[in-house]
Amino acid sequence: MYTILIIEDDLALNEALRQMLSHGGYNVRSAFSATEGIGLLDGSIDLVLLDIGLPDGDGLKVGKEIRGNTRVPIIFLTAKDDEEDIVTAFDCGADDYLVKPVSLIVLEKHIKAVLRRLPAGDKGFFQYKGLVIHYDAKRVTVNEEAARLSPKEYLLLELLARNRGKVMTKTMILEQVWDDMGSFVEENTFNVTLSRLRKKIEPDVTRPTYIRNVFGLGYTLGEW
Ligand code: CA
Repeated sequence: MYTILIIEDDLALNEALRQMLSHGGYNVRSAFSATEGIGLLDGSIDLVLLDIGLPDGDGLKVGKEIRGNTRVPIIFLTAKDDEEDIVTAFDCGADDYLVKPVSLIVLEKHIKAVLRRLPAGDKGFFQYKGLVIHYDAKRVTVNEEAARLSPKEYLLLELLARNRGKVMTKTMILEQVWDDMGSFVEENTFNVTLSRLRKKIEPDVTRPTYIRNVFGLGYTLGEW
């Protein structure tokens, strides 16, 4: 799960961004000034959304400072649309530059595009409590013990992990895990796979920690 740091002093916009990104399955940290933003920047941040006009400083300087210490992607989100600012932003190491107002849907597409360009391995694993999934090796450990999953069990778990924060309906899961040239999969196959997977990863299958039912809707990984 990616963590995005928003540095934006417009309270309403900061909150709208936070809500949109949380719904999109991102972890979000919000800062309202340059100082606060730099204070929140640590190794857990995967991308920074950065305003230029901040109360205690110039976002371009913040960008330069961030870039001086880390390779974390920076998307400028600002009302300033003159060429000079845009050029300076890219010279400071911006990965993208968007002029307000920008539709939240378009912004999310830009965020996804920038995150896609992160070097492979940066987020090569998923962790939630004691559960760790190493995507490249297709290896799963629970409290540091290897779980031996069948290919379908692994795919089911990876799908839920990659969609952490969302509810996956049974139909969505069937389409993505069993999409075998459109062949029909009995619901029972799904139930059996899920139950075997849970036996291998859940400390207590009667009260699942990892794969949870969202009543009447579907399944999610972790709390929803
Ligand atoms: Ca501002």
